[in-house]
Amino acid sequence: MRILIVEDEEKLAGILLRSLRGEGYAVDAATTVAQGLEMALTVHYDLIILDLLLPDGSGTSLLTALRQQRYNAPVLVLTARGDVDTKVENFDAGADDYLTKPFAFAELLVRVRALLRRGPVVKASTLRIGDLELDRMTRQVRRGSQRIELSPKEYSLLEYLMLNPGRVLSRSMIIERVWDQSFEGLTNIVDVYVRQLRKKIDDGFEPKLIRTVRGVGYAIGTDGAP
Ligand code: CA
Repeated sequence: MRILIVEDEEKLAGILLRSLRGEGYAVDAATTVAQGLEMALTVHYDLIILDLLLPDGSGTSLLTALRQQRYNAPVLVLTARGDVDTKVENFDAGADDYLTKPFAFAELLVRVRALLRRGPVVKASTLRIGDLELDRMTRQVRRGSQRIELSPKEYSLLEYLMLNPGRVLSRSMIIERVWDQSFEGLTNIVDVYVRQLRKKIDDGFEPKLIRTVRGVGYAIGTDGAP
């Protein structure tokens, strides 16, 4: 899941960036309406966290511009102004949720998870492939009766695979959705993480769920082919 933060308050943006990355999300940051718009239209984001008072204009104008281009990722608006008019104006402009500053990170996180689950269309809170289950609200993973502990990045990788069952995902697609602009390594990071993930969800279980498609990438499914 890749998130864009548009926030000009350096300290708050920094805290959000670090905290959300700590949860395993890929997170990029913009500080102006112009930069936010350019990034949103370049990279596929699953969620935008948008401040309303930006140096070159209002977050509302950015939101309006995105919705006019049929941009349908959920948008969580952040602002110090908690008045009803501002809320109504932004819901009208296409905001999906609203958080008034100051807020507790725990509350932001609950809303982020709920919005990511909702996405452009409502998705089930639990993803299932065979006997593998991933709960997107509690972020718990089980195979059969066994609880599986994953690191935040392993979780993000598995979630991306499970949201696309049977579809072959290339290393660069995986990098773009699971890692962010801060990532400067090689695409073989994907192979390293897939290996770790396999150890946890496939070793000792049948059938094997993660498939390698040589020269292309990876897929998850129960059909075994190719
Ligand atoms: Ca601001």
